[in-house]
Amino acid sequence: MHAVPVILAEELTRCFGAFIAVNRIQVTVQPGEVFGLLGANGAGKTTAIRMLCGMLPPTAGRIQVAGVDMVRYARRARGQIGYVAQRFSLYGDLTVLENLKLQAGLYGLTGDRRRDRLAEVLRLLDLSDRREVMAGALPLGYKQRLGLAAALLHEPRVLFLDEPTSGVDPMARQRFWELIYALADGGIGILVTTHYMDEALFCDRLALMQAGRIVAEGTPDELLRRPLPTPILALDSPDAVAFEQLAQRWPEVREIIPHAGQLRIRLHAGTDLAALRMRLDAVAAEHHLTVTGVRPVAPELEDIFVAVLEENEG
Ligand code: ATP
Repeated sequence: MHAVPVILAEELTRCFGAFIAVNRIQVTVQPGEVFGLLGANGAGKTTAIRMLCGMLPPTAGRIQVAGVDMVRYARRARGQIGYVAQRFSLYGDLTVLENLKLQAGLYGLTGDRRRDRLAEVLRLLDLSDRREVMAGALPLGYKQRLGLAAALLHEPRVLFLDEPTSGVDPMARQRFWELIYALADGGIGILVTTHYMDEALFCDRLALMQAGRIVAEGTPDELLRRPLPTPILALDSPDAVAFEQLAQRWPEVREIIPHAGQLRIRLHAGTDLAALRMRLDAVAAEHHLTVTGVRPVAPELEDIFVAVLEENEG
């Protein structure tokens, strides 16, 4: 038997006047799943999340949260949701505990349940010994944890995290992801937006948005197996810096990235590889540069996304 998805959105659409910010997207998130939504600024991620959280009415389409229809039973559906905004949205001049008590009041928690939930989120997010600290004085990583604690007070079935780790240092990011996994293991479904490709790989499933549409979707492994129109090349050379400067002006080169002592070269679709190789050799001879090797390498997630975006732009 399949579990009821914690998020089920069909043909979800939002227009602002004549502009279509979100265009007929389908999103399904299962309990315990970490679903990543990716895309450049303006792709429509925040608009999609605002609709899924019940903060913005869709122009068209359906949303169910844990089986509850968001449009018809908005209050009940919202009660299943925890939301952590991109920017810290709690009160800097209240303590950690005061912020959580205030939030507990907004969720209508009272009596033993209020006391138990406060203790539980403080424990879970490792905030117990900072409960009397002013929220505004917390380091960014702890502010994010406080935001997460507040979003978990009412035991939501689904958690929305809008770029939760932007600006957070790598150690705190790692700690934050451990928490995300622990929550997912407990059965919460999580929808997260991120700009970090290494974080995208932590997700169970990913969707890439471009101009309001989902243009690629799958597990990280499935996406990494997508064929590219042109391979990614790695160039080994003791003269990598000189090569980088010369090659970045070539029309077939989309991007050239120094990486672990090599140059990774992303080419535009349709590049003639034999002609490129001849050009490389000719330039090397002309400028007395050495090429130790040029070979296709396995793409990384960002290579796949860049190719998908280019394909759709075309
Ligand atoms: P970011 O990463 O910057 O948050 P995003 O992918 O979340 O980007 P959205 O904020 O959803 O993108 O915006 C998608 C598009 O919709 C943008 O072109 C934006 O200008 C437009 N848009 C968003 N909200 C409104 C609004 N209230 N009125 C008009 N246009 C809007």
